[in-house]
Amino acid sequence: MIRTHESGTLRRSDVDTPVTLAGWIARRRDHGGVTFLDLRDASGTVQIVCRDLPEVAALRSEWCVLVTGVVTARAEGNANPALATGDIEVVAAAVEVLSQSEPVPFPIEGSDDIESGVDETLRWRHRYLDLRRTGPARAIRTRAQIVSVIRRVMEGHDFLDIETPYLTRSTPEGARDFLVPVRLQPGHWYALPQSPQLFKQLLMVGGLERYYQIARCFRDEDFRADRTPEFTQLDIEMSFLDEEDVYALTEELIVTLWREVRGVELPVPFPRLTYWDSMRRFGSDKPDLRCDLELVDLTEHMAGTAFRVFQAEHVGAVVVPGGAAYSRKDLDGWQEFARARGGKGIAWLLVPEDGELRGSIMTLERDRLASLPDVAGAKPGDAILFAAGPRRTTLEMLGAVRVAVARQKGLLRDQEWSFLWIVDAPMFEPTGEGAVGGVEGGWTAVHHPFTAPTKEWEDTFQDDPERALARAYDLVGNGMELGGGSIRIHRGEMQQRVFDVIGLSRAEAESKFGFLLEAFKYGPPPHGGIAFGLDRLAAELVGTDAIREVMAFPKAASGGDPLTGAPTPITAQQRKEAGIDADPA
Ligand code: ASP
Repeated sequence: MIRTHESGTLRRSDVDTPVTLAGWIARRRDHGGVTFLDLRDASGTVQIVCRDLPEVAALRSEWCVLVTGVVTARAEGNANPALATGDIEVVAAAVEVLSQSEPVPFPIEGSDDIESGVDETLRWRHRYLDLRRTGPARAIRTRAQIVSVIRRVMEGHDFLDIETPYLTRSTPEGARDFLVPVRLQPGHWYALPQSPQLFKQLLMVGGLERYYQIARCFRDEDFRADRTPEFTQLDIEMSFLDEEDVYALTEELIVTLWREVRGVELPVPFPRLTYWDSMRRFGSDKPDLRCDLELVDLTEHMAGTAFRVFQAEHVGAVVVPGGAAYSRKDLDGWQEFARARGGKGIAWLLVPEDGELRGSIMTLERDRLASLPDVAGAKPGDAILFAAGPRRTTLEMLGAVRVAVARQKGLLRDQEWSFLWIVDAPMFEPTGEGAVGGVEGGWTAVHHPFTAPTKEWEDTFQDDPERALARAYDLVGNGMELGGGSIRIHRGEMQQRVFDVIGLSRAEAESKFGFLLEAFKYGPPPHGGIAFGLDRLAAELVGTDAIREVMAFPKAASGGDPLTGAPTPITAQQRKEAGIDADPA
């Protein structure tokens, strides 16, 4: 071994030990004749004292060096309690340069935070330097710890870690595929998997019963702050199960992770909310329950009103504690808030401590108006913010208002953790604009088309796709979707009816998923599973908002990789060789 000890591990008990250390120069300080070096390796830093070593004058930050010397107790009063090695220092006999470093493009030392204020693209471009920083290195270590805990829990339940192909054909998660041309079959393309969904189901047909994988997934979606084109899932599938098995396993996983990584004991079982209860009460299918504020449904109260704005499928409100003090500017802010989210605006009513109601709805029938504060549960001093329109979009708008009010008024208990299950989600949703595949004006599967209907809908989902419910479940943590899955369909006849609803013809189904449908002819077991966004989970556990911070080599927000420069154009020769323009024979 090049070194005898790791810098960060040296303690008072090592005093008088001769050591050889290797690492990087974090700092150099000259004090007339004596030079102090902070030497950093993966384990931490230690102070090196260099007396009568003229060669250290040339050393610079981030040079990689080998130090031989003796561990020595620091003089009384010179200990540094902020440093784990602060009781001692190493008196150097020699410092050998292993490699030099150019001046680094951003400071490595100084801030232990993950984000340092340095431009992100510059950090990703020199990620190998960024990872020398304490915060980013800690994030990547924590991620490795998370994966290790996951493996232990999964293996404890006899799950098998099984790899599935990356070069494959389209999988059904509803995003666009990344495609790979195939030189040996010009004009033919692989798709990178959006998830291992179909393979994990085939493993169940194969009788393996318990599968898991830390799997890379690829989805060609529009860029967003919390999205990257490739990401990692903890992917799970099991046979002969029901929802309770998934909940129990997941809760054990999450509880163990939070206990071991954060030292937090989470209460189980996690609460369960049906999708529509969650929408009605919180205006979201991933509600943040660290805030007690709930939406108010005023649809009935407004039935038959002559007030135009409230003649809608759904009328609802959020009561803002202390909102009566809103200024004109605050209220204008809410209008902008609504418009930025595609709404027309937010109607408002201020309920002052004393004096008359004021608001944008004063032409509402007198009785309806007077009783509104009571019906909405608003107290003197509060404001009521209203939205009206189609049910789902109105609830979503109010959900956004709820979150914003919670932030604005400090109603979020942000030291807490809130986990819950969202169950009984709709099976189908109308095919939206920009949906991939599916017929405009038709239906598409909310989860994916292999998701089973709930018992009550088994025979009838095709007759009322709008109301039909699925055996799907999402795990939500602090207002974020951490994972989701479902009990699958394992009968060909039922699968065919789902394809019929989403307008997938027999021929299309055959060409897309024929291999799965064929497998299902050979005694498929009842099965189901779940997948967790590992990056999101790790970000939560590390305590950052940004999933890129828990990826060793993240792509930039633009989707490109500032480090390697990928993606790059290809040459005419490569293009020809890959058969990109060839017609499939
Ligand atoms: N494959 C699904 C997804 O990626 C998860 C599942 O149904 O297990 O969301």
